[in-house]
Amino acid sequence: MTIFGKILSKEIPAKFVYEDELCVAFHDVQPQAPVHILVIPRKPIGSLAQLGSEDQALLGHIMITIAKIARKQGLDPTGYRVVTNIGSDGGQSVGHLHFHILGGRQMSWPPG
Ligand code: AMP
Repeated sequence: MTIFGKILSKEIPAKFVYEDELCVAFHDVQPQAPVHILVIPRKPIGSLAQLGSEDQALLGHIMITIAKIARKQGLDPTGYRVVTNIGSDGGQSVGHLHFHILGGRQMSWPPG
């Protein structure tokens, strides 16, 4: 089980900002921006690359939830970034699909 699996089962603590039957959101332990929240499905999917067609509704739900969380965090007026890292070249360090919501500062492009 990944560390996010343990967060889902409440084996290890996290600062939750949102929970429903399909996904949860909590603050990143090493924030890279004034707002840095991770949104993850309860279903243990390894990464975006492992999604199947059966996950279509789940992903739509997660995307809409991301927008709701960002709005609630006050990020709408200035904008924000949503990132998912995939595999080693993508910089993924936890093998459970997650979306980073980053905001509260100007983001640069291209990312490092
Ligand atoms: P990634 O590098 O895209 O796989 O992102 C994994 C993220 O999980 C990193 O930003 C870490 O800081 C974050 N992270 C790792 N362990 C925890 C934890 N126990 N609670 C909250 N965030 C974590």
